[in-house]
Amino acid sequence: MKIAVIPGDGIGKEVMKEALLVLETLQELEEDLSVDTTIFDWSSDNYMRTGKMMPEDGLSILSEYDAILFGAIGDKRVPDDVTVWELIMPIRKQFNQYVNFRPVKSLPGITSPLVRADNIDFAIFRENTEGEYSNSGGRLYMDKPQELAIQNTVMTKTGITNIVSAACDYALKYGKSTVTSATKSNAVIHTMKFWDDCVAEQMKKYPELQLQSYYIDALVAYFIERPQEFEVVVASNLFGDILSDLGSAVIGGLGLSPSGNINPERIYPSMFEPVHGSAPDIAGRGIANPIAQIWSLALLLGHLGRTDLEKVIVTAIEQVLEAGEVKTADIGGAATTAEMGAAICEAVKSCF
Ligand code: ATP
Ligand code: MG
Repeated sequence: MKIAVIPGDGIGKEVMKEALLVLETLQELEEDLSVDTTIFDWSSDNYMRTGKMMPEDGLSILSEYDAILFGAIGDKRVPDDVTVWELIMPIRKQFNQYVNFRPVKSLPGITSPLVRADNIDFAIFRENTEGEYSNSGGRLYMDKPQELAIQNTVMTKTGITNIVSAACDYALKYGKSTVTSATKSNAVIHTMKFWDDCVAEQMKKYPELQLQSYYIDALVAYFIERPQEFEVVVASNLFGDILSDLGSAVIGGLGLSPSGNINPERIYPSMFEPVHGSAPDIAGRGIANPIAQIWSLALLLGHLGRTDLEKVIVTAIEQVLEAGEVKTADIGGAATTAEMGAAICEAVKSCF
């Protein structure tokens, strides 16, 4: 398999180093794992040098790869709309990565901020290419008293059907019985009502699965009150974005949560990245938690058919956390990024 690696900015570079060491460890142990990685320095540093986040033919270069492992991007010298709209968004759109996949799972040794919450294990499927995040709209009557802004939400039947199918296929594959849909059709009466209709119609094709539909305001409360109840959650771009960050907070940390931008048909490469950003406040100190990045590597391998190796990595992470000897600062310890990476590599070896 060919993997394009984009470490990016800040702690992205630091945590990526550890993920690549885990990959090397796997390659030493697993003879039939042949991985070809290429590292691309498409970062804010590169932007400062060249005026571009990625080269003109960046997308066509990436299209030659089976998957992309991404670190994090963000730098105070570069506006957010440049880093997002000139690197991340073009990749998501070009490669039709319409699923944003976020596992939310309790880990041993990690205390949830919620006192009554352990055994949390669900996955969020966020629509990743349309919906509320559109560039349709604008401002009218500039500098007049009646000045206003319009932001259009564009939802397509195909878009909704695709994300629901991806969520349902996952639910069946992993033996789950319910799919929860986030809606707000009592107030957002055009697009959200359409969302509800398309979700219900598509769910009819999955008679084994039960659909629960909750208003987003109630759903965020349930995420806090009884997160154990959920199995698979499907949501629009905006609602999914909010639920995903809440999901990582609920299990106890941004430094732990992985994500995938997935093209389920595998026509195009999918991209896997930690939920956290470049964390400029701790960058360069070697103290970032590499678990989210390493777990993202695990998701990548699973997506490319190596669910056995995905399991090995997740088990290794769980073993290290359960032993509790090596912990980075964000989860209450004093270990460095490198120490955490090395501990996970050792645990990977013990799984063979
Ligand atoms: P960006 O603009 O790139 O999103 P940010 O300033 O929003 O960066 P995040 O990376 O989203 O920062 O992180 C938010 C907070 O969580 C920061 O205080 C950061 O230090 C902490 N944090 C994020 N990732 C990690 C990690 N892997 N290990 C430890 N702490 C982390
Ligand atoms: Mg951030």
